[in-house]
Amino acid sequence: MNRPLKQLLQSWHAAGLTHLPKPTSAAAEAMARLSAPAGESVPAEASQSAPTAVVEEPAAAEPVQLPVVDETSASSIPAGATLTPEEREQALVQLAGRVAACQKCQELASTRKQTVFGVGNPTARVMFIGEAPGADEDAQGEPFVGKAGQLLNKIIGACGWQREEIYICNILRCRPPGNRTPEQVEADHCREFLDGQIRIVNPEYIVCWGSCAAQNLLGVDTPIGRMRQRWYQHGEAKVLCTYHPSYLLRNPDAKKPVWDDMKFLLADMGLTPGR
Ligand code: SF4
Repeated sequence: MNRPLKQLLQSWHAAGLTHLPKPTSAAAEAMARLSAPAGESVPAEASQSAPTAVVEEPAAAEPVQLPVVDETSASSIPAGATLTPEEREQALVQLAGRVAACQKCQELASTRKQTVFGVGNPTARVMFIGEAPGADEDAQGEPFVGKAGQLLNKIIGACGWQREEIYICNILRCRPPGNRTPEQVEADHCREFLDGQIRIVNPEYIVCWGSCAAQNLLGVDTPIGRMRQRWYQHGEAKVLCTYHPSYLLRNPDAKKPVWDDMKFLLADMGLTPGR
């Protein structure tokens, strides 16, 4: 079995596919990409980034009223709000197939063990976005499964959630060699897939873990410490930014600010820690 095809099947499995349905046009396209001769490109579907509005308002006890964002622009990816949970899952599986065949970042595509698409509830109220897969994630095909992921699981549990309730993904779907910081061109390449996942899952809330996720999603260069405890807007989702769990492993004093951020999120959702 050739390597791209193996990666495609692994990605479908990681996305929850347990059997192969009748081929869809998207699946056929993904297979066409895999079987296309080297150097021959298959036209990619157009993608549309959700508009982002930054709400630079200080933290307040009352939820900040956010502007309504026009999302009527055309997109090749179905909007999750119009789909059943099963259709959202199928749309994610199809998008994962495109990701598994992606070669846009040559260095990453040639060094990855597999792509790391994303995992979780296709109808989640909350989406978590991290930076990029590390060695553990590259090996297992799932985001946040290393030490940082274990800490994230504790945070999720302290909030009163199960990990399966959240949808979790990254800015990049391939591991940068040596866990280096993603390059901007790589984040730009992978943006259509992130936008697709956001569009399909259609979360009410997005949590950006770390400066890479926050700055790339929102298109700002504000230090992460100044992005905390305030709401940003991306499409229909309210966005909260906080420190990455990897940073907490190196700086345990940052755990309290992150917990404050989680309480800030829960209060806006009408929830209390631990429910
Ligand atoms: S990081 Fe994203 S855009 Fe780059 S090769 Fe991987 S899937 Fe493709």
